[in-house]
Amino acid sequence: MIYSLGSINADHVYRLLHLPTPGETLAADTCTRMLGGKGANQSIAAVRAGACVVHIGALGPDGNWMRDALADAGVDVTHVTEAGTASGHAIVMVDASGENTIVIHPGANRALNPSQIEVALRDARPGDWLLMQNETNCQGEAARIARSQGLQVAYSAAPFDMDAVRAVMPFVSLLILNAVEDAQLLQEMSVVDVPMRLVTRGAKGAEWVDEKSGKAVFVPAFRVPAIETTGAGDCFAGYAVAGLATGFAPAQALRRASAAAALQVQRPGASEAIPTAAEVDAFLNA
Ligand code: ADP
Repeated sequence: MIYSLGSINADHVYRLLHLPTPGETLAADTCTRMLGGKGANQSIAAVRAGACVVHIGALGPDGNWMRDALADAGVDVTHVTEAGTASGHAIVMVDASGENTIVIHPGANRALNPSQIEVALRDARPGDWLLMQNETNCQGEAARIARSQGLQVAYSAAPFDMDAVRAVMPFVSLLILNAVEDAQLLQEMSVVDVPMRLVTRGAKGAEWVDEKSGKAVFVPAFRVPAIETTGAGDCFAGYAVAGLATGFAPAQALRRASAAAALQVQRPGASEAIPTAAEVDAFLNA
């Protein structure tokens, strides 16, 4: 079982010829609304990878369609509560060349309370996983409760914030970073005191470091014609943790995550582009 504590956002995507300059007002060519947020994306990736996933999060009174979308994807939404504030959302503007600017309002994502997390983790068992990123509040409390119940804790340090990393670090089994976040971390500390660190390096691949033995496994990315890399890291993280939670060895879990992300970057969108385990198997066996 994976308990996925994370953000759920309404992504409002506006496509325009060019991004507005300060003071400019533009009409968008198209506007779409879809489910987003790093937490929701990682939950959907883990479910598509074949894990059972309980999402822990919060939405506003305007968020029922997002709860339904998560549930339709197969995520257990029992512990997605309703907060007294609007749901988190993102305004995404994309120009004709694919360049984007994004504004996020965390809203209900930062209105979680520790008692909600205690209740959600009540039935968790040793060997289960807690997966988190840095788009909610209560990460430190959740990590501490999970660890005290024998869960493995995976933390995706995005968006990167050193204080947030420090708060969860004593409880983390697996720290997940992209190349930029890894460089930011190593600037702050020379010894990373976690059992395992996973660093994704875009089209180059990903690296798995066992911090105790110093042993590292490098998994190259598959060479594919990428059209959109939004959410590749979330797809990778969800697949990697699901692989570990369902019994794959790290090297195998990473290879599956790499294949899933390779399929994801060839499709438009974020969560809706995440492939199923059957698609990943077909890709690996082709
Ligand atoms: P983030 O989205 O968090 O910045 P990365 O850019 O490191 O994460 O991408 C995560 C993973 O997605 C990579 O380790 C790789 O496996 C896969 N990936 C990303 N970009 C490409 C690409 N252009 N081609 C193939 N795989 C990719």
